[in-house]
Amino acid sequence: MKIRLERRDWLKIGLISTIGTLVCIGVALALDYGNFSRMAPEFKAVAIRNNILIPIVLALPAFTVFQWKIRQLAIAKMRLEELAYTDSLTGCLNRRAFIAKMAEWERQGRQGVPDGAALMVIDVDYFKRVNDALGHEQGDHVLIGVAAAINSAIRPIDVLGRMGGEEFAVFMPGVNKPVASLAAERLRLAVMASGLTQAGDGEPLTISVGVAWSGGRVTFIELYPEADKCLYLAKQTGRNCVVLKEFRAEQHAA
Ligand code: GH3
Ligand code: MG
Ligand code: MG
Repeated sequence: MKIRLERRDWLKIGLISTIGTLVCIGVALALDYGNFSRMAPEFKAVAIRNNILIPIVLALPAFTVFQWKIRQLAIAKMRLEELAYTDSLTGCLNRRAFIAKMAEWERQGRQGVPDGAALMVIDVDYFKRVNDALGHEQGDHVLIGVAAAINSAIRPIDVLGRMGGEEFAVFMPGVNKPVASLAAERLRLAVMASGLTQAGDGEPLTISVGVAWSGGRVTFIELYPEADKCLYLAKQTGRNCVVLKEFRAEQHAA
């Protein structure tokens, strides 16, 4: 992996290396300071020159190389993390990253969101037909288009992930039940209006959406199976529709 640093990285490295070298010069001069009074003037001049030159020759390159490598390692780590968390086809979060985001939200105590939250499980209808008619590669392009259409219809704070195959999930914090229902409908219409077709035959591509909404404290583990059940119902009902259910913790505790 070739890692090139940007200008601002080099400026930072230059600044820190210069400060580090000046500190080394200061320390060398301070350590020698007691000897200066006993030295003949020509030796004193040589000692002062050495105290300045040696850090410049040794410390400055050492600081620079050290920081350069550290910065490269930090960038490599960032890129690897991005790769590990991104779905390589659609660019949205992969399943693992989506679940990690949900866990973060749970840890943060729902971020003070008062209205509730919705988890939507989205499945492309009759997607196998797209592959069969147009080929797997074209099917991949359709999936990219579906992800883009969904992404265009959600808010910046919502979380979109590809859970696998032609299944996506959207998490919406801070939505009450009617808003969650409208938002899911907006996703469905966005895909229908995206210009993607079922098998190149002009029929718009559609999605089915299962939504689990909760007004109380809830976890991903609780919401996901409920949303999945709703998706199953949406498929049974004829596809290209939204099925929403309210999740109540007490019903599930019983
Ligand atoms: P339904 O409406 O019941 O969801 O029908 P469906 O055809 O969408 O569902 P099914 O589970 O029968 O088929 C899903 C297909 O998605 C099968 C699989 O080959 C295809 N698929 C899964 N992942 C990918 C992918 O990354 N790229 C492509 N092109 N196809 C994929
Ligand atoms: Mg599926
Ligand atoms: Mg499907």
